[in-house]
Amino acid sequence: MVNRRTFVLGGLGAVITTPRRDADPFTLGVASGEPAPDSVVLWTRLATDPIAADGHGGMARADVPVEWQVSATASFARVTASGTAVARYDEAHSVHVVAGGLAPGREYYYRFRSRGRLSPVGRTRTAPATDAAVRDLVLLFATCANFEAGYFTAYRRMADERPDLILHLGDYIYEGGPKPGHVRLHLGPEILTLADYRRRYGQYKVDPDLQAAHAAAPWVVVSDDHDVEDDYAGGHRLDDIPPLTAAQWTTRRTAAYQAYYEHLPLRPMSKPAGTSMQLYRRFGWGRLATFHMLDTRQYRDPQACGGHWKVCADAALPGRTMTGSAQEKWLFDGLAQHRATWDVIGQQVFFAGQLDSHGRGNMDAWDGYRAARDRLQRGWVERGVRNPVVLSGDIHTAWANNLKLDYADPGSATIGAELICTSITSRGNGTAATAVPTADVNPHLKFYSDRRGYTRAHVTPGRITADFRGVDAVSVRNSPIRTLGSFAILDGRPGLQRL
Ligand code: FE
Ligand code: CA
Repeated sequence: MVNRRTFVLGGLGAVITTPRRDADPFTLGVASGEPAPDSVVLWTRLATDPIAADGHGGMARADVPVEWQVSATASFARVTASGTAVARYDEAHSVHVVAGGLAPGREYYYRFRSRGRLSPVGRTRTAPATDAAVRDLVLLFATCANFEAGYFTAYRRMADERPDLILHLGDYIYEGGPKPGHVRLHLGPEILTLADYRRRYGQYKVDPDLQAAHAAAPWVVVSDDHDVEDDYAGGHRLDDIPPLTAAQWTTRRTAAYQAYYEHLPLRPMSKPAGTSMQLYRRFGWGRLATFHMLDTRQYRDPQACGGHWKVCADAALPGRTMTGSAQEKWLFDGLAQHRATWDVIGQQVFFAGQLDSHGRGNMDAWDGYRAARDRLQRGWVERGVRNPVVLSGDIHTAWANNLKLDYADPGSATIGAELICTSITSRGNGTAATAVPTADVNPHLKFYSDRRGYTRAHVTPGRITADFRGVDAVSVRNSPIRTLGSFAILDGRPGLQRL
């Protein structure tokens, strides 16, 4: 009988070894996301060799069937839903199962089977029914997980909390080459091709702490610049390193979006077509909260005055956009619906006004798109949005901010609150410092931390309690986590209350 693992090509004397059929294809773990009242997305990607140079994870050029199961219990004694998906070679053997027919507001467990092997078991949740009166929701939000900057202990601590929901606000991967001296190193130089991006995701997703966070709760993700390239703005690159022709840049951006979709538990509506990926979307948590997830990267104008921190009059030009006009209109339509107590805007970059000690603003953040921020804030005020709360990431430090109609006037009305999570690892260990930088010129900025971690929000009809969580260090494994600061946002009272 022919050995199915090894083919000897006699004439050439070459031996080609195909992957062992019994090799574990579930090296990248499992994930779920996009909870709706009746469905959730289940994700995995088959890969026997996650960092294979061709980006195909050691898998042969063939599509592979993958069975899936959902159950109300981790023992799978009774299967609630099941089916068979196809892991396609063209999609790096990723699967995105929309598991439907589920009950609202319920915990579920899921697993996959392929080639006779069972995957790890994941835990997930459906959203409550649209009109349900929901008592509470525990959500964690996180961003900026540079593999080189440290261990993913914060992801492990997120899993330990068994939250209802996790939001990831971008920079799930970083695109750079290895930088000597870091805690652990990226494989290969700066990533440019689809094979490069897939391999980079392979390197990240074998991390057991990251796998634990995915297996603990459903995620809702939006991407940011480093998922493609640092500080890109739609079709525009802020830097030219490495130099790329327009066609090469298009190819790169197409590859980055394709790989992002392949590796995260997104709905099929987010499957990219070239350089276009539908990521802004809305989901509800009964009558408790509506989440408006924004894409502030694909449709924005280039950074004003060449980007970075600048004193820049052009940043206030009225025609400048952060979201593009279609997304802005979509957001206003959603904010006008008043479906829930809390309207949560999940997005990538620092939203409140912020000046540094030289009077400069961050041109990559909303300070570089001031008229767009003005329109958005006035938009929610005009529509009578009861409790607008902005969740942000990107800046690698934690902040809690009051939002103001006019950031130049400390007496201006507070019209909302912003919570900014620190990074999972980016910027390294940091310090215990908590003094708000430049608080003298930014009195609406109320909290700062330079630790790595995430933010936990306990959402109830009467209040949101936000705990800023930080690990002591990311340069060593298994660091403990602690709460560095806590704030409340009260129903009907815009702004932060310090706890
Ligand atoms: Fe980042
Ligand atoms: Ca970023």
